[in-house]
Amino acid sequence: MVRERSQQIFAQAKQLMPGGVNSPARAFGGVGGEPIVMQQAQGAYLVDVDGNRYIDYIGSWGPMILGHGHPRVRAAVHEAADRAMSFGAPTEAENELARLIIDAVPSVEMVRLVNSGTEATMSAIRLARGYTNRDVIVKFAGNYHGHVDSLLVAAGSSAATLAVPDSPGITAGTSQDTLVLRFNDVPGLKAAFAQHGDRIAGVILEPVVGNMGCVPGTAEFLATLRSVTSEYGALLIFDEVMTGFRVAYGGVQSLVGIMPDLTTLGKIVGGGLPLGAYGGRADIMSQMLPAGRVFQAGTLSGNPVATAAGIATLTMLRDESPYPRLEQISARLASGLTQAASSAGIPHSLARVGSMMTLFFHPDPVTDWDVAAQCDKARFARFFWGLIDRGIYLPCSQYESLFVSAAHSDNDIEHTIQAASEVLALL
Ligand SMILES: *Cc1c(COP(=O)(O)O)cnc(C)c1O
Repeated sequence: MVRERSQQIFAQAKQLMPGGVNSPARAFGGVGGEPIVMQQAQGAYLVDVDGNRYIDYIGSWGPMILGHGHPRVRAAVHEAADRAMSFGAPTEAENELARLIIDAVPSVEMVRLVNSGTEATMSAIRLARGYTNRDVIVKFAGNYHGHVDSLLVAAGSSAATLAVPDSPGITAGTSQDTLVLRFNDVPGLKAAFAQHGDRIAGVILEPVVGNMGCVPGTAEFLATLRSVTSEYGALLIFDEVMTGFRVAYGGVQSLVGIMPDLTTLGKIVGGGLPLGAYGGRADIMSQMLPAGRVFQAGTLSGNPVATAAGIATLTMLRDESPYPRLEQISARLASGLTQAASSAGIPHSLARVGSMMTLFFHPDPVTDWDVAAQCDKARFARFFWGLIDRGIYLPCSQYESLFVSAAHSDNDIEHTIQAASEVLALL
């Protein structure tokens, strides 16, 4: 596969932008080599600047659940842009998107629109702190909530849970207000609350993690989270930026029947344009300025073009529910990949919830970051490049979930399984 133009453009990009990219996940750091420069996307396919075509299993890292360039979404975007790019004043469309979100996500009674998932989580933890008048936020190793300072922290080396900065530029002071616990660890969670419970403002988690590969929270873990936060007066925050409208129209909370106090959304909710949201109980959301006193603002928040893409996407998902078919083709892909890895004698485990899944190169089910960290990343890199050469574009890291879209055909899935079988047999 020739990628000459891609290489030329990326060489220039490296002179212009740090690492040649505007977000590090795109840089192929987890698999080596250089990212592929894209030109066009339609349905389930990407076309790069050299004219190579790929079946896409990233979907822009989540948003494109309807496939790329859905005609209804494009039409909505055109129509909105023709009216106004931005007002900085209220619009009726914001009511419409807010109503769609509130109707879809069981725990959300009131919502605010922002511009990214990061803004949503940053604002939700500020609200949790403002509402409870407490400082400490609990998060879990291997969960990602965007590049919020106080959440960009890692577990300390001791068995204690005090966090340490995970990036230069994050102060020890900031990280000290965050506790990092082990995901799916019920005794660890209870112990942390027994020790620090009266200082904990909230717990934020991905109830089905996508950001260490696909790792579902166990029923017991999620139920304990709800009971322990209620007992100690802390808020439970489901970060459904990835899972919202993905694992089900109503997110993970609609599948497990657990009501968080706050929910953060992003990715699908903006239909491919920059839009995030956070919402939850009305009494909590009413603490936000100008109804309440917790500050959060945004020049482009509720932007009419992004809002139109969100409305069109959610309306399609609600009215034409692609979820049963997504479940069917995702199950087929999962069983095909599992069978291919087994036939090749490669130690593996596969985790899937709806149309998000990860083939882990580790023999045991991945339940937390300690297990995930043991995956055979060199093997994943060879798997990834073998599939690229066969025109299949997976996320470029063992620790990212792949996404199936409504635009994937049965043929695409069978072709992918066939290609994966070939590649796995060579590993
Ligand atoms: C992508 C993601 C974010 C961050 O969203 P951005 O739009 O990239 O800022 C936060 N939380 C989760 C669970 C995500 O997957």
